[in-house]
Amino acid sequence: MKPSQNDKSGARSDLGERALAFLAQHRLSASPINYWVAHDYIRGNDPSLCEALNSVIGSSSAIDDFVVREIYEQHVAGEALRRFHGMGEGIEKLLGSLLGDVLSASRNTSGLQASLTENLGRLDEVRDSSGLRAIAQNLAQAALAANESNAALKKSLEATEQETRLLRGELDKHRREAMVDPLTGLLNRRGMLIEAAKLFDSSDGPPALLVMDIDHFKRINDTYGHAVGDIVIQKVAEAMLAIAPDQAMTARFGGEEFVMLVPNASIDRAQQLAEKVRTSIERLRLVRRHDKLEIAPFTISVGVALRQREESIEPLFDRADKALYRAKHNGRNCVVASS
Ligand code: GH3
Ligand code: MG
Ligand code: MG
Repeated sequence: MKPSQNDKSGARSDLGERALAFLAQHRLSASPINYWVAHDYIRGNDPSLCEALNSVIGSSSAIDDFVVREIYEQHVAGEALRRFHGMGEGIEKLLGSLLGDVLSASRNTSGLQASLTENLGRLDEVRDSSGLRAIAQNLAQAALAANESNAALKKSLEATEQETRLLRGELDKHRREAMVDPLTGLLNRRGMLIEAAKLFDSSDGPPALLVMDIDHFKRINDTYGHAVGDIVIQKVAEAMLAIAPDQAMTARFGGEEFVMLVPNASIDRAQQLAEKVRTSIERLRLVRRHDKLEIAPFTISVGVALRQREESIEPLFDRADKALYRAKHNGRNCVVASS
């Protein structure tokens, strides 16, 4: 039986029925683990699981619970733990207890099956109604145990799903925070590199990169203190944001260095944008609130580079950095484009 790749047509229950048919075809019990593996196999989303099961089907050895359990441990449990590794202990603990429930449900289902086989075998020896009653009681007990543990498994699955959703939300929040600079609200270096990589993978036109650095920032810190230095950084970020086109990505790349990545740009357009940011910062006038002290005007220097065909992120940043270095060398408060 071949797994169907990405079974989109069939409803979920159809998938379940086919998994059960697969188990019946291979004389496997419908234990949770067997069912899980059969279900994944029929769904066909995990090529390595399909390959492992196909190689057993193709070989002379029979598929039994042990073989399926091995596949389960290698491809389902292992993969799940690998995938969740790093998502915090919470999820691992949840998975651990869930796996415990799955295994205990599996034991009880196997118990039911063993009891069925044993008691059906005993039917031949039954001579009177009390013998029959004993068999019926045994079966009822085994069914009850299996039922209870299946209900517990269902409950545990639901609780796990809910907790996983919460944990995933937390994780997303932390992931977003890890990409943002708290002082300016812009992307930080990490966030910019992640977003830039996405942009570079897309089929958009070439992006332009602007690398901006506040001139003689050390002097601002030395003259007015770090608190004013921080405000200057925020004001530069605001000025850059006000000019950035909607699709542009803006980041604080380091202490007093900023970058803007503009999709589908030309070098002329990038230079115009850089010039706009530069002049708007040059015109800023800041006054310290409590003592009305006027902060001396400050400027930025900008290096600009347009992504060349197939150019990767590092060389593009490198060229923009070199252009920035030339802008500093040319006397600062100017824009230089990489040739
Ligand atoms: P240049 O024109 O060559 O860029 O000179 P510069 O003084 O701007 O550059 P330099 O690299 O010598 O100094 C940058 C200073 O920025 C050093 C560091 O103390 C300061 N700095 C870095 N991060 C922050 C920050 O978050 N807040 C404040 N207030 N200062 C910072
Ligand atoms: Mg500087
Ligand atoms: Mg700098």
